[in-house]
Amino acid sequence: MKNVLLTPGPLTTSNLVKQSMQKDLGTRDKDYENLVEETRQLLLEIANADPLKYSAIFLQGSGTFGVESVLTSIIQPSEKVLILSNGAYGVRMGSICKQASVNYKLVQYSMVEKLNSQIIEEEISKPDITHVAYVHCETTAGILNDIEEIQNLIHKYKKISIVDAMSSFASTPISLNKLGVDYLITSSNKCLHGVPGLAIVFANKKHLSTCKNICHSLSLDLYSQYEYMEQHPGSFRFTSPTHVMLALNTAIKELISQGGIRARHLHYLEIQKLIHEAMSSHKFDMLVCKADQCPVITTFLYRQNFNFQDFYNYFKENGFILYNGKLADYDAFRIGNIGDITENDIQVFKKILDQYFEEVK
Ligand SMILES: *Cc1c(COP(=O)(O)O)cnc(C)c1O
Repeated sequence: MKNVLLTPGPLTTSNLVKQSMQKDLGTRDKDYENLVEETRQLLLEIANADPLKYSAIFLQGSGTFGVESVLTSIIQPSEKVLILSNGAYGVRMGSICKQASVNYKLVQYSMVEKLNSQIIEEEISKPDITHVAYVHCETTAGILNDIEEIQNLIHKYKKISIVDAMSSFASTPISLNKLGVDYLITSSNKCLHGVPGLAIVFANKKHLSTCKNICHSLSLDLYSQYEYMEQHPGSFRFTSPTHVMLALNTAIKELISQGGIRARHLHYLEIQKLIHEAMSSHKFDMLVCKADQCPVITTFLYRQNFNFQDFYNYFKENGFILYNGKLADYDAFRIGNIGDITENDIQVFKKILDQYFEEVK
């Protein structure tokens, strides 16, 4: 039976994406090198990133490997990064810096509201801060931070920007040329609809070229990975995930053929709206207010007489995988709406939901 994943990644992939992996490729081969280079170019195009200014760099691993690579590769010992956090992924950036002895200041704000530009400006303006890092879509509670507003502040004080756009890239149009983000990180298995295994870093080439010999890790050194990819087009320093690359290339072409990121954004909103309607018909309230709600995942508060594990198991028996991760401070659970999900899938979801509460009652 087909599983429908209502999680924030990995997610339901299309048949085309799954089929694309039925091929074995050698890495030191022209076909594979062309595939890698084409994928990098496509990524720059959908990010509206000028190839003279930006490079799309791959790192083997999950999204966190990309975040860790950036934070450990571009901050000199004399510099300091401000981390504006409103959720678990901001806190994770702090853990990365702590473990790697990167100078940082972690400031934590409410996880159920978007970052407030008036409040964060004071932190950004401080003279010892050279870099500012934040999460665009905080998947923890499902908040969409205002990337344009925050970028404007970062530019005002001339700091280097680092954006974890893991669950926002391809869910909503992001123009790197317009926003001037210096480092933006995403991964193959979120809104791009590929499979897990690749982190993607969009890097400001001019800045990255000043970052030689900063990183204390060999495999996570973004500068070395970048230099190698520029000198050996289509190659990675170490074995690259060939099947993941095939899937990603196919997924991006599928995204473009479906109307691009704008169309995907509207599709997500439609799927999310159907989920909201189904859940609210069973008296589930949302944790986050509409204005701050991101288009990829929603947090629902437990209703009365509710056992999440039982609910989860029931959906699993019926082919739907919900997100089995609890929020620390709330009796709540999350439902994702990204991946190759159709309106029909959500009609089936609604039927199972109705059945569940009929049976429980
Ligand atoms: C998924 C996600 C990550 C990366 O998580 P991995 O498990 O390493 O792939 C980072 N930040 C955000 C906001 C995410 O949603």
